[in-house]
Amino acid sequence: MREVHIHDTLTGEVLPLRPRDPGRVGVYACGPTVYSRIHVGNARPFVVFSLLKRFLEHEGYDVDLVINVTDVNDKIYDAARAQGRPSAELAAEMTDLYRADTDLLGLGRPDHEPLASETIAEIIDYIQTLVDRGHAYAAGGDVYFRVRSDPDYGTLSHRQLENMDQGEDDSDPGAPAARKEDPLDFALWKAHKPGEDTVWEAPWGPGRPGWHIECSAMAESLLGVGFDIHGGGSDLVFPHHENEAAQTRAARGTELARLWMHNGMIQLTGEKMAKSLGNIAPLHDVLAEHGPQAIVMYLISGHYRQPLAFSESELQDAERRIQRIRDALRRLEQGRPSPPDMAHHTRAFFDALANDFNTPAALAAMFEWVREANRRGGGVGDADLREMLDVLGLGALSPLALVGEVSSVDPEATSLLAQREQARGERDFDAADRMREELRRRGWEIRDGPEGPELIPSAAN
Ligand SMILES: [Zn+2]
Repeated sequence: MREVHIHDTLTGEVLPLRPRDPGRVGVYACGPTVYSRIHVGNARPFVVFSLLKRFLEHEGYDVDLVINVTDVNDKIYDAARAQGRPSAELAAEMTDLYRADTDLLGLGRPDHEPLASETIAEIIDYIQTLVDRGHAYAAGGDVYFRVRSDPDYGTLSHRQLENMDQGEDDSDPGAPAARKEDPLDFALWKAHKPGEDTVWEAPWGPGRPGWHIECSAMAESLLGVGFDIHGGGSDLVFPHHENEAAQTRAARGTELARLWMHNGMIQLTGEKMAKSLGNIAPLHDVLAEHGPQAIVMYLISGHYRQPLAFSESELQDAERRIQRIRDALRRLEQGRPSPPDMAHHTRAFFDALANDFNTPAALAAMFEWVREANRRGGGVGDADLREMLDVLGLGALSPLALVGEVSSVDPEATSLLAQREQARGERDFDAADRMREELRRRGWEIRDGPEGPELIPSAAN
């Protein structure tokens, strides 16, 4: 078991992971708000924390990974109203689609995926505790957290109180926020408003929870307080995580998490790209075009704390790296141990992951291994490369990619590919698309390589 170090947003330092319960690591990462299909930016924390779990398990830890679903939220009410549908129906549909889209990444599911709508009793209890301890107050059916009652408020996001804006629209005198004792305070419970079609009874009147208390309640009910790693996108540090941390200090007198781990944002590069993609690239579209392994490879190509550029050329680079692994696998002896004198590359790979989950450094070590294996030609066993790929969620990568090799296991697929080529030759692109879809149903993706089209097994295969 290596000593694992992780950068902690609270202290600003890279700290050793010292689990609350030796050998066990509890991780809570904030999941999506389900008002539309998720985009590639939402996939980054899903991939980072799913792979962190795989790495920690490789090191011998028991890992409990929680990624919640925020299914009660202003954005959902707004989107549902715009579409003229019940908000609960929209949230349920988008939750199913979120699960389907992330399933396609081939990384499995988190251990727990709590829904805010199924944690309401715990949320109400939590708010009551904050009111009883003087850290929260009811006002006109709302309940607000009294920010100045927490002397440590601001320590996570390293902000001064005067530079804070909860984003709860304090400027409108008719807005509920006008009921706050202090503009710094934030909502724990929001009184029912006309046009909101879900509502729960509470001691302060009918309404629904605020976003921050939802996560505190979901995290605590599954992992307890003082769990090991609280994660999410860096855009959540303030106010979301600052408020989660304050709620736990105020209600329980202790810290919610031992380490706060934040991933950087996905950035669109180049005006042209931004125009064609709008502000979002839906994950399912990107997956359909590039395949799950290239998307995982793309998302780990930069250090998780850095912003990651999103562009067609970045995705093509990732596809090329996947293809290099595939090419190497084809030459390796399958199911055989790897040469011990190449093991230093494998050690460097895992050491890089232990050092603040440095995936680009780990990938560099893995490709050193691949280069060395290629240089040696035949007789190299694939075990070490398989071990590294498994931790990266790329264990399903198959060397099988050449049409000649596919024809022996699925002759129908090679015939479909030939028909698709013919249709393309005749400029019948509808027919060509149908063949591509049919191949996809059979578990094959088409890759147009330098030597003509190839069939590549999709992740599920
Ligand atoms: Zn959250």
